[in-house]
Amino acid sequence: MSAYTGKYAGPSYVQDVLRDELIKTANYLATPGKGILAADESTATIGKRFAGINVENVETNRQAYRELLFTAPNTHQFFCGVILFEETLYQKTLGGKPFVKLLEEGGVVSGIKVDKGTVELAGTNGETTTQGHDGLAGRCQQYYQAGARFAKWRAVLKIGLTEPSELSIQQNAQGLARYAIICQENGLVPIVEPEILVDGSHDIRKCAEVTERVLAACYKALNEQHVLLEGTLLKPNMVTPGADAPKVTPEVIAKYTVRALQRTVPPAVPGIVFLSGGQSEEEATVNLNAMNALDTIKPWTLSFSYGRALQQSVLKTWGGEKKNVPSAQKILFVRGKANSEATLGKYKGDAASSGTSESLYVKDYKY
Ligand code: 13P
Repeated sequence: MSAYTGKYAGPSYVQDVLRDELIKTANYLATPGKGILAADESTATIGKRFAGINVENVETNRQAYRELLFTAPNTHQFFCGVILFEETLYQKTLGGKPFVKLLEEGGVVSGIKVDKGTVELAGTNGETTTQGHDGLAGRCQQYYQAGARFAKWRAVLKIGLTEPSELSIQQNAQGLARYAIICQENGLVPIVEPEILVDGSHDIRKCAEVTERVLAACYKALNEQHVLLEGTLLKPNMVTPGADAPKVTPEVIAKYTVRALQRTVPPAVPGIVFLSGGQSEEEATVNLNAMNALDTIKPWTLSFSYGRALQQSVLKTWGGEKKNVPSAQKILFVRGKANSEATLGKYKGDAASSGTSESLYVKDYKY
C-alpha cells in the first residue's frame, strides 16, 4: 500500500498522483451524452454469441467482429469507454493499428474485464462469488501499460425465497471492494458491478428492496476498504419485476431505480452506468431515458454500459459476412445515438424496430 501523505483525502490512502488521474478518468467516463460499450465477452461467451449466428469462435473472427465495432463510422462520439476482454486489449486492426490507440484517437477510453468469473459460494443454495483477486495487482499493472484506464468486475446475486443470503451479500460486497482498491492502487478506475439477476417471479418492490440492501452493503465495504469513491463508477441492474412477473412501464422502473440509488449511492460517485441484463435493446434505451427525464435529485450521471443491448442486432446483421459490415456498423450508430440521447432524457423512440424489441433474457445467464 502506498504511504499516506498526510494530505486530507477522506478515507482513501491512494497516492496523490494516482488520485488525480483516477478522478479525471472517472469524471470523463461520466460525461453526459456518452456511455460505455461493454464488448468484454470472454472467449467462451463470445463463442455462444457466434454460435447463434453460425460463426466459428476463432481468433480471426473475434478480431474481425471487434474491428467492426471499433471502426464503425461516427460512433465514437456516443462512447466515452469500451470494456475489452484481455485478448482484445492486445489486438490490432487488420491495417495494424492497436485497438486501444484507435479508440483513444476517437476519445474513447479502454477498459478491461479483470474478474475470472463466478464459482459457487459454499454454504449457500447455489449462490456465487467472483474469482480473480489472486495476482490482480500485477495484472492491473500490465493492463495499465497496455493502455487500459478502467476495469470491470461482475458480482452476481439472485432473488429467491431465501436469496440473496446475508452471506452472499457480504462476500460479494467485500470482494468488489477488494477488487476496487487494488485497481485504484494500480491506476485503474474500478467499475463496481453487483448484478442482481432478473430471474424469478418477484415484483418490482422486491427487486427494489434487494437492490437497496445490496448497494448499501457495497458502499459500506468500499468505505471500509478505503476506496476513493470519486474515482469509481457503479454498474447496477435496473430495478424491475422478475422475468416471470408482469411487466411495468418505463416510468415505474425509473422511479423505483432512481429511488433505490438515491437511498444508497453517495453523491461522491460521479456516474452510474447500467447493465442491460437481458432487456431488449429498445427497453434498455427507453428505461434509461425515463430515468433521465425524471424530475428528482440525481447527483450522478445516469448512463449505460450495455453489452447485449448494444450488440444484439449488430451481431445478427453481420452474421460473420464481410459484405454486411457497413450495415451492421450503421446499426451500432443507431443504438449508440439512441442511448446517448437517453442519457440526456431526450430519446424520442425513433430507433425502435421489430428486432430491437426482442427480449435478450437468458435464464441463469453466465457472462
Ligand atoms: P449486459 O448489458 O449484456 O447485461 O452486459 C453488460 C456487462 O458488462 C455485464 O457484465
